[in-house]
Amino acid sequence: FKSFARKTNLGFTQGITAIVGPNGSGKSNIADAIRWVMGEQSIKTLRAKKGEDVIFSGSDKKSRLGLAEISLYLDNSERKIPLDYSELVLTRRIYRSGESDYLINGSKSRLADINLLLTKANFGHRTYSVIGQGMIDNFLIASPQERKEFFEEATGVKQYQIKKNQALQKLENVWQNLNTLKIKTSEMEPRLRLLTRQVKKLNKRKEIESQLNQAKLVYYSSYWQEIDKKYQTQKNKVNDLISTKDNIYHDWKKLEDKLNKITRDSTFNKELAKLRTYREQLLDKKMTVKEDLLTLKLSFEKQIQTTAQKIKTISSENLALVNKKLEQINLLHQKLIEQLDIEKNTDLIKEQIVNINKKISSLLDSLRPYIQPSQANQPSLSKDSKKDREIKKLEETINHFNQQINDIQSQIKKLEQEDKNSRSNLWQIQQDYQASQQKLNDINNQINEARVNLARTETKRFDLRQEIQHELNGLENLDQQPHQPLSDQEKIESQNKISHLKNQLEVIGGLDPEIEAEYETTKERYEFLIKQIDDLTATSKSLKKLVNELDDIIKTQIHKSFSEINKNFQKYFKVLFNGGRATLSLIKSQEIKETDQENPDQDEQDTAANFFQEKNKAAGFSGIEVQATPPGKKLKSINALSGGEKSLVSIALICAIISSSPSPFVVLDEVDAALDESNSIRFAEILNNLSHKTQFIVITHNRATIEKSKRLYGVTMGDDGVSKLLSINLEDAKKYEK
Ligand code: ATP
Repeated sequence: FKSFARKTNLGFTQGITAIVGPNGSGKSNIADAIRWVMGEQSIKTLRAKKGEDVIFSGSDKKSRLGLAEISLYLDNSERKIPLDYSELVLTRRIYRSGESDYLINGSKSRLADINLLLTKANFGHRTYSVIGQGMIDNFLIASPQERKEFFEEATGVKQYQIKKNQALQKLENVWQNLNTLKIKTSEMEPRLRLLTRQVKKLNKRKEIESQLNQAKLVYYSSYWQEIDKKYQTQKNKVNDLISTKDNIYHDWKKLEDKLNKITRDSTFNKELAKLRTYREQLLDKKMTVKEDLLTLKLSFEKQIQTTAQKIKTISSENLALVNKKLEQINLLHQKLIEQLDIEKNTDLIKEQIVNINKKISSLLDSLRPYIQPSQANQPSLSKDSKKDREIKKLEETINHFNQQINDIQSQIKKLEQEDKNSRSNLWQIQQDYQASQQKLNDINNQINEARVNLARTETKRFDLRQEIQHELNGLENLDQQPHQPLSDQEKIESQNKISHLKNQLEVIGGLDPEIEAEYETTKERYEFLIKQIDDLTATSKSLKKLVNELDDIIKTQIHKSFSEINKNFQKYFKVLFNGGRATLSLIKSQEIKETDQENPDQDEQDTAANFFQEKNKAAGFSGIEVQATPPGKKLKSINALSGGEKSLVSIALICAIISSSPSPFVVLDEVDAALDESNSIRFAEILNNLSHKTQFIVITHNRATIEKSKRLYGVTMGDDGVSKLLSINLEDAKKYEK
């Protein structure tokens, strides 16, 4: 480190350790080393231009080094530092590359850890623990605000101050976050309000929709059931009527057929007339034939009368002769038959039969003119047979005509009978037919009426079905449970209710279903942010509370320390100046309203600003004023004091601080340089008195101070530019002197 190019150990005893040596030997470098290892950041205070300047830069005889390293050993066997180590080693090292490390007990640490440790160990500001050459007056020439800071550090409230500053830093972050969150939430609020309204509407809409659906369900289910039932009944009725009609029609048709048959007279009568005409014709023909026959008969009768006259002339004698002959023939004939039974000579018999037949034939011939009239009315066979045949023919014709006429007559009679029969039934049939027709008309009317009703119901049913399709998206959505049919009044009420609900929906209007999802996410996000705001507000509150508590501690401690330091300051001042008056006074800060407590609703920004303004001011004071009047002099401004006087005032103050709030050690680099001999003796005395409270490492050329020290280090620098150390235990040396 700096001129200490070799590893050098310095041990410090209780009480005062003095470091002496010629100018430029490297004494102040020791103070710099202590300041540096304690985390000093000011290059200027370290009397350097850049960080690496603390590394040995080389000399004519020794080349430069690559790193500087200091370790400060703190004895913590009494656990004054609240850490479970009996020794704490702070190490700082820097390389030429600029890379640097802090270590606590060999572990890499941060500067903040070093600061915290030192604060816990009750080291004040480095300018107080290590008062550099020419720095003693700094406290006096500083502003009241700087003095206040120095004072705070010196009185051990620094740790609270650090905590307070950390809390304030956190608070600042919290407030920034709060602010960001509040901006976010306030940006979200209008949208959320809109969404909330929309969702309320949506819910209202859903509620109405469900009411509407229920109303529709009841109305349409019962109405449909009613209409459908009516439709089915009417359809059945039409079918029943149609089947009844079929029966009636069947009867009617039968009657109509009957009637038609009767009234089909045109053909019936024609046939009758034809038959009659035919009969007339036959009668006419017969008459002609009869007339012919009569004429023929008349002429024949005349003939007969003539012939009869002739027959009367045939004698009865002739007849007797014939008979006689016939008897002879018969006898002969008899004989022959008897001979036939006896005789075998048939030829002879045949000859005799031929003779007999000849005799019969001749006999018949002789008889013919007499026998003829007895056999027929014809006078003679040859002459009347022609006429007979004519008559016979005519008579046959007449008979034939008669036959035909009789047939026709019987047909006519039959037809006439039928006609008569029919006509006698006609009236009854007509009656029945009319009745049947009436029935048919009635049933047709009924069917028509039923059909009209059915058609009406069907239309209604169709319309209702369409309506249900539109309103409930199909019949399948109807309630299938049986419903009581609604009364007209109930129907009207239902319809009114439905249209009322529909109107309400209309008023609410269409809503984007996405709204709900957006509402949920927005609300969730908003609530999350609000929760964060709440958490941060709570954190802010507790931080504020912490800051206030710390402020109270700081305030109390500072006031306590202040009055003590002030008292000691006056005491040391009087000792050092051999009289005179000196006093410290606090410059009170302006009263700041605690608006955050009085008006919690006020904008957090204002409160934050006020809070920081307040808290950045000292706990109750903003600075320290020093007044010093050396003996026999009038109260003058500090600036008007001489260099030595300034040093004395500063020493009095440092001693007062050490007295009331001692740091574990204090390095004083030639603070006594400006003191005259008597003051140097007084200063040495004061240090000696205080040395039971703290360790003093005093770099000095002052004999009185050296005399009070228990250990002495001599620093020298040879021509190699390297500082060397010589240690003397003065108590041992005193023995040695004897
Ligand atoms: P004085 O009694 O006059 O105050 P001092 O003993 O306090 O003197 P220091 O200021 O401690 O002297 O030492 C200064 C010496 O240290 C100088 O000689 C300077 O060259 C030397 N020095 C400072 N920095 C380095 C460095 N990085 N490398 C080598 N030597 C250095």
